[in-house]
Amino acid sequence: MAFDFVFNHSETLAIAGRTADSHCGVRSVCDSDWYRAPMSTGRFAICDLDGTLIDSDAALVEAFITLGVPRSSISFGHVIAEECERLGISLDAYIDAYDTAAAQPFPGVVELIESLDRWAICSNKHVVSGRAELERLGWTPRRSMFADAFDGPKRLGPMLEELSLQPSDAVFLGDTDHDRACASEAGVTFALAGWNPRAVPRTGDIVLERPQDLLEILGR
Ligand SMILES: [Mg+2]
Repeated sequence: MAFDFVFNHSETLAIAGRTADSHCGVRSVCDSDWYRAPMSTGRFAICDLDGTLIDSDAALVEAFITLGVPRSSISFGHVIAEECERLGISLDAYIDAYDTAAAQPFPGVVELIESLDRWAICSNKHVVSGRAELERLGWTPRRSMFADAFDGPKRLGPMLEELSLQPSDAVFLGDTDHDRACASEAGVTFALAGWNPRAVPRTGDIVLERPQDLLEILGR
């Protein structure tokens, strides 16, 4: 099974895309003849960064802990400036404390990125940290938009506009409820990074088991 399409609510949703022999609560797209999602060729991959392409939880947490934030107060997927304000710490201090060399790509992501020619990054990450990580990894997306590109949380609309894409031309790969909401608001197909154990499938999600499964969603 390459990936699953979650079709109803169930306590078993958490296993979607991770248990090859389980069809309880999920249904294989590959096996289904009822699935009629558009599969036009060569859709553009717009990707979240933290928790989707790179396993950055530990690096994000370590910077907060260095600045005295209790581990229990830390959560993920936020605009970093808003999160620093919520936690009562300086954004500049956080950027200084964040180790841009620490987070590594999830298994299979390097190979995915190497196989993509039309892809972009859309992230709530601070632009300094985000650009440093892209440079370290040698990743050169067509466009990268970080927190400084938005007035508030990231949105896909400005990215589509800059790339002259229609919503149906793109797929958004992400790991959080906010990522899913971004895709929904923009009318873009959402694919959940099921390789992140923190990613929780919801009704209607396409849950990818492995990074390379994105290629099938893109129509390649
Ligand atoms: Mg994320």
